[in-house]
Amino acid sequence: MARHKDNLPAPPDLPSFRVEPSEEERDQQQRTRSVAERHQNTGLVRHDAFLDEASIDPDAAKVVRRLERHGFQAYLVGGCIRDLLLSGRPKDFDIATSARPEDVRSLFRNCRVIGRRFRLAHVLFGGGKVIEVATFRRNPQDLDEEEDLLIRSDNVFGEAHEDAIRRDFTINALFYDLDRRQVLDWCGGMEDIAKRMIRTIGEPSVRFREDPVRILRAIKFAARLDLGIEPNVYDAMVSHREDLGRAARPRVFEEVLRLIRQGSAHRSMWITWESGVMAVLMPELAAFLDDEESHPEAVSRFWRQLDAADRMTHGRGPIDDVVLMTTLFYEPLQEAMAGSRDRMRAAGDFLAPVAERIAIPRRIADGMRRILAMLPRLRAGRTVRAGRSGDIVTAAQRVLELTSAS
Ligand code: ATP
Ligand code: MG
Repeated sequence: MARHKDNLPAPPDLPSFRVEPSEEERDQQQRTRSVAERHQNTGLVRHDAFLDEASIDPDAAKVVRRLERHGFQAYLVGGCIRDLLLSGRPKDFDIATSARPEDVRSLFRNCRVIGRRFRLAHVLFGGGKVIEVATFRRNPQDLDEEEDLLIRSDNVFGEAHEDAIRRDFTINALFYDLDRRQVLDWCGGMEDIAKRMIRTIGEPSVRFREDPVRILRAIKFAARLDLGIEPNVYDAMVSHREDLGRAARPRVFEEVLRLIRQGSAHRSMWITWESGVMAVLMPELAAFLDDEESHPEAVSRFWRQLDAADRMTHGRGPIDDVVLMTTLFYEPLQEAMAGSRDRMRAAGDFLAPVAERIAIPRRIADGMRRILAMLPRLRAGRTVRAGRSGDIVTAAQRVLELTSAS
């Protein structure tokens, strides 16, 4: 550049140079590039979604970011994204990643790998918090075996999009990219979130035959989140309800508990009954409800008791499982015991096939019987000595509260 009328010496000729990015900057650029290139040709739709950072568990975010910093893909997935989009209060935060369980373990000191067949990493934080980190998997279904679709092993690692489509419902298959604040959607889940609709990923009858417990999961989400069930999905639930008899009984029982645990027992049991699922799993209860005409008061007390349980759950937090199960069967049990000279024996005879069919654990079945035995004394205002287990007396008092509220 020409310089005029100043007496300063000409500037020296400086060598031209470019500032090279540091290694760290280069890594960052590489990562940004490769994040943008991820999931090409997989049918991915990205939705910008600014989920409130404050409602995302900071420890889960830490785990995601550390995995990403080490070159792995990591996303918040499943129920937490669904709940954040629908109701704002996830129960827990799960992570899906391209890292293998042993990679995760090597990145986190406070980590243990659990499960033999289906290996998962649990990253542990203070206060007993566990963040579950699962490696992307795909549906191992061998579609040649049309006859028997039941999934028996599900530990085949895969890609992110395969991990999304192996999930049960579209609303459960959304992944969240924390840094780009995008929901990754391979299955049309965002549209179903907007429509508040439960839809299986793929053919409903295939997905329910693969895993009949999904029928109960559909009921749980419909009841808990107040969602509709897509008509073809509902029809398939009804058609395949008998398959629940083939599912692993402890899984079925766990899912029955989830139906009544989270403050939507009334709605859950209504759908369970109406869909005919109750007739498969708890025919004694279904028969009690079907026969409404012969005891309308008892049936309306049954529904009011479930309402009371839901209110108690919302107001005071989770109710003990033994209290819930006793309340659920309280009215038919009263009928079974009425007029019997040995009331406890009548209760035992009623409960034995119920417990057998849905694999009620011994602890809960025994607790139900003990509560039933205590109730008449408690109801008469007499004290019951707690003996070694005060817990069961407290449980019986809860049942009394729930069944006399109606
Ligand atoms: P909850 O809020 O009751 O925990 P959830 O959707 O988080 O509901 P989990 O059992 O914790 O349910 O499962 C986490 C995720 O794993 C689900 O969101 C879903 O994507 C997937 N999943 C769970 N169970 C099944 C199943 N039986 N078949 C296919 N995918 C499943
Ligand atoms: Mg969950």
